[in-house]
Amino acid sequence: MKREFAVIGLGRFGGSICRELSADGMDVLAIDIQEDKVKEFKNIAAHAVIADTTDENVLKELGVRNIDHVIVAIGDDIQASILSTLMLKELGIKKITVKAQNDHHEKVLNKIGADHVVHPERDMGKRIAHSIISTNILDH
Ligand code: ATP
Repeated sequence: MKREFAVIGLGRFGGSICRELSADGMDVLAIDIQEDKVKEFKNIAAHAVIADTTDENVLKELGVRNIDHVIVAIGDDIQASILSTLMLKELGIKKITVKAQNDHHEKVLNKIGADHVVHPERDMGKRIAHSIISTNILDH
């Protein structure tokens, strides 16, 4: 089944999400403010566009309002991440997943209504630690 996704920010994290969703046959709109990032995804995602997602009018023009699930993978520019999330909330997007850079960022994202906040490095560190512990238990 095809469902519509948008991935904002095509760095290592957002890029990887975009690749996986597209490889699984999902309809993905890939967005980044940098032209070279967008070029890289032209042949990977169903649609790839250069845009600044902190601008509400740009989001409207792109038809983001009709997308089921938007992933905000802007990391370093915390202000752009927060503003983009806020705009998506105002457009009424049903599901918004956002990458947080630190605990303060996470707190703000939760307050403004992000549905799912992830810390890729921290979350992966936890998973690997647990997998190391369970492998150790099996080994003993
Ligand atoms: P990662 O940690 O996933 O590798 P990164 O370090 O390459 O990410 P980040 O600064 O976290 O880069 O940003 C991810 C992407 O978000 C970048 O490619 C950047 O161009 C894009 N980006 C930043 N601001 C905006 C914006 N306002 N609108 C759209 N894309 C943006």
